[in-house]
Amino acid sequence: MEDLIKRTAKAISGAKKVVALTGAGISVESGIPPFRGKGGLWEKIDPMEYAHIDAFMKDPKKVWDVLIRETNEFIEKAAPNDAHLGLARLEKMGMLKTIITQNIDGLHQAAGNLDVIEFHGNFAWHYCLDCGEKITAKEIDLSELPPRCHCGGILRPDCVFFGEMILPDHLSRSRHLAETCDLMLVVGTSAIVHPAATMPLIARENNAMVVEINMEATPLTGVVSDFIITGKAGDIFNRIMDELENGV
Ligand SMILES: [Zn+2]
Repeated sequence: MEDLIKRTAKAISGAKKVVALTGAGISVESGIPPFRGKGGLWEKIDPMEYAHIDAFMKDPKKVWDVLIRETNEFIEKAAPNDAHLGLARLEKMGMLKTIITQNIDGLHQAAGNLDVIEFHGNFAWHYCLDCGEKITAKEIDLSELPPRCHCGGILRPDCVFFGEMILPDHLSRSRHLAETCDLMLVVGTSAIVHPAATMPLIARENNAMVVEINMEATPLTGVVSDFIITGKAGDIFNRIMDELENGV
C-alpha cells in the first residue's frame, strides 16, 4: 500500500493534466449516505418511484417529502472530509485541473475547488418550474410541501433526475478532459453509471494512467485502472498529500 501511495504521489507530481472523477464513496465519510449499494437509499426506496422526473412531475409533494427534504438535511449537516480537502489542496498547488463529480452535495466547492463539473447537478440550488427563478436550498420555506416560488410555481432541485439529460456542456467538457488528461484519479465510485462510467475508459484509451481510490474492487479494477488503493479515501488522501508536501 505504501508503495502505491508513493507511486500515486509521483504520478500526480509528474503529470501534466490530472482529472479526478468522484462519486458517492467520497462523501460517505462526510455523513452523506450513498444512493447505490449496501445501505444505500435505493435499497429503501425505488428510484423510479422517487427520483425519476416523471415521478416528480406526477407527485412533487411525495418526492419532496421522501427524497429531497431528507437529502437537503444531510447536505446541510455535512462538511468536506480529508479526501475533499486533499483534492482542493491539489488544485491550489496547480496539480489538479478539474473534478468531474457524480455527487450533488456541493462538498468539493465547500472544500475550495473552483473547477468542478457536477454531472448530476446539485441540491444547493433549486429553481421554479414556472418562472425559472433560482433559490438556494437554505432559503426555501418548507412549511408546506412541495415548496413554492413567490410566483406560485413548484420548486425543484437543480439536479439531473432519472429520465433527464446530463447537460451537453458538462458531457462534452468531461469527454474532452478524459481524452486529454494524462492521469485520472477515480475516487469513491464503482463507475457503473453511464455516462460518468465511460470517462475512465476514454482516459485509458488515450493512454492516461488511471488510479482508483475505492473501498473495494470495481469493474474498472484490473481492466481499466492501473491499480487500486483500497481504503477510506480521507486516509489515503492524507497519505498522498503527506508524500507530495513532505516526502518526494
Ligand atoms: Zn416562480
